[in-house]
Amino acid sequence: MTAPHSLMPDYKPAPEQPVRRPARVPWFAAGLGIPLVSVALLGGPPAPESATAGQAAQAAALAGEVSATAAPATVAADPAAAAAGAVAVLPAVEPPPPPGETVRLTVRRGDSLDRLFARHDISRADLARIMQLDLAREHLRLIRPGDTISVRHEMGHVLSLDREISLTEALHVERVEDEGYRAELKARELERRPVVASGTIDSSLFEAAAAAGVSDRLIMNLAGIFAWDIDFVLDIRRGDSFRVLYEELWRDGERLGEGRILAAEFINQGESFKAFYYEDPTGRADYYDPDGRSLRKAFVRAPLSFSRISSNFNPRRRHPKLNTIRAHRGVDYAAPTGTPVKAAGDGKVIFRGRKGGYGNTVILQHGGNITTLYAHLSRFGKPRTGSRVRQGQVIGYVGATGLATGPHLHYEYRVNGVHQNPRTVKLPDAEPLDPAWLPAFREVSAALSRELDAHRPLLASQAPLPSS
Ligand SMILES: [Zn+2]
Repeated sequence: MTAPHSLMPDYKPAPEQPVRRPARVPWFAAGLGIPLVSVALLGGPPAPESATAGQAAQAAALAGEVSATAAPATVAADPAAAAAGAVAVLPAVEPPPPPGETVRLTVRRGDSLDRLFARHDISRADLARIMQLDLAREHLRLIRPGDTISVRHEMGHVLSLDREISLTEALHVERVEDEGYRAELKARELERRPVVASGTIDSSLFEAAAAAGVSDRLIMNLAGIFAWDIDFVLDIRRGDSFRVLYEELWRDGERLGEGRILAAEFINQGESFKAFYYEDPTGRADYYDPDGRSLRKAFVRAPLSFSRISSNFNPRRRHPKLNTIRAHRGVDYAAPTGTPVKAAGDGKVIFRGRKGGYGNTVILQHGGNITTLYAHLSRFGKPRTGSRVRQGQVIGYVGATGLATGPHLHYEYRVNGVHQNPRTVKLPDAEPLDPAWLPAFREVSAALSRELDAHRPLLASQAPLPSS
């Protein structure tokens, strides 16, 4: 019996639990009481005239003991003692479930608490009593459509009430014998369960994500982690694959959403890229490659968010509008008008205006004598000529100004005035992790890597071995 992998809360070997198991078996068996009685009786003592519930439980417990310890002789020698021992264990192992029935009340438009309780046949007199408590009144007074309140009741009489206040706090109201009700604020524990998802791209990254059961938001975050290495707009190909180890946020058996990505691998056109989340002892957290180099680089590959592929870098391409062969020294990203265009790297705006066939254009000057150019913009972002911009800052919006057949971003990357393919040019090296943290990082990343590898998809043979 192994726990589902995705539910394992840590990456370290689970502590041994030799004591727990024998204690659990009798309880479990007791839960199945009746069917196990017959098992116990097969080769055992004579059948009782009529098995009471207690006898059934004892017999079942015996059966449990037998199978757990494989020592039927002992049981036969002193069944009463064994049964007594097993029965004594029962209450301590699993307390009985709380009485009553739990319902979740969902606030509708126009609801008052009174109406909400009435609709579910929950006592409004109890509600009135609860609302006399300052703490309860403070946190129940305001309700909005969609809010939920959880009520445990017996025949409509409130035994307890719970309402989430924030991700970390909840109101808990409980019936108390003599005082009526008592209210308190409880800290809410957020459980983070590591989960691995993997997918192979057939038509689009988003479809692969959906097929893998992860949200668009998570896949956007994944793309964000690799934005310096992979052009997610133009370089994604059928057969590319990803594996991602991320946290699911759970509480009380309910999945609240997705948390952080802890580790990921993306295989793009046969090349493997890996990322590991690591927080160093000073509290600085980032994603690093297996050698401890930050994945952040001076330039992102694609200076805008996802869109449909339009054209590849090709210096002999036929320009669609002029219909003449002319060097197309840049990359075109087809995207809806208004899609934000982001600075590919830190720099300074050295041009912002109309520039012939380029239409509305922004040129940024970066370190290392690198300039980037963004053309055909429908309008400009806030940074003006002379302004400093940060990587990722919006400098304009996709459009079709100048010589453009349709809305797209024309992007150029030049080193010392010479055009380079921004999607393949070697980018300045990533910032490494402080060497002092390297041993600790290697330990963490090795554990994360093992976790990822345990979930290698069926297509593993296609994946190249990761470089070390
Ligand atoms: Zn172009």
